Amino acid sequence: MKLDVLAIGAHPDDVELGAGGFLLHMKAKGYTTGIVDLTRGEMGSRGTPEIRAGEAEAAGNILGISVRRNLDMGDGHLELNLANRHTLAQVIRELKPTFLVGPYFNDKHPDHAAAGAIMKYASYDARMSKLELESTPNSCHMLLHYPCHIYVTPGLVVDITPYLEQKMAAVRAYKSQFGESGDDYDSDYIHIGITDYILHIKSRCGHFGSLVGVSYGEGFFCQDPLLVNDPYYLLPGVRD
Ligand SMILES: [Zn+2]
Repeated sequence: MKLDVLAIGAHPDDVELGAGGFLLHMKAKGYTTGIVDLTRGEMGSRGTPEIRAGEAEAAGNILGISVRRNLDMGDGHLELNLANRHTLAQVIRELKPTFLVGPYFNDKHPDHAAAGAIMKYASYDARMSKLELESTPNSCHMLLHYPCHIYVTPGLVVDITPYLEQKMAAVRAYKSQFGESGDDYDSDYIHIGITDYILHIKSRCGHFGSLVGVSYGEGFFCQDPLLVNDPYYLLPGVRD
């Protein structure tokens, strides 16, 4: 299998919240997409790992992904260590993504920060020819990091306006996390708790969209500068 985009999450639902629109956008363009969850979310206040696995499958179907795996690295104590790096590097070698997408590595939540760092370094491990893992080395061409609990000035914003409702449907598939209706924040709002997500994720998409002149966007931190041959490519519609 050769994926165009592989998105990483610390917990099932992280990818849907941070990059679900991007995956839908890429899928609509005919590219292959997949998700790797690093933990089963067993430390979450709501739901069980089994329930969350079922929800992850339903959400993945809404996103149209080709593959979803769970590496079960331990919710609540996800660590940047060699074993975890090499486990993810092995998967990267197998799935050979061009784009790797994962949490921002300075996030407030230790699991999200660790997941972003594991992805960053596993992408290096995956391309080292003398590192003996199964499968042949793979070089990802671009790493993108989505913000979770903190604001990150994005290096690029993807227009997800046509896919916002589908992204939110994928988020709402996690009924154990967001309630049956997917909007129980109205009665149970807790700041930096699980119930602020639905409300704020839409607001965040609106804000990122406003930065680039579209209704809704997903923003990503990109550590490396972007190569541009024709700057007009960055101004869609200006010379069409
Ligand atoms: Zn999470």
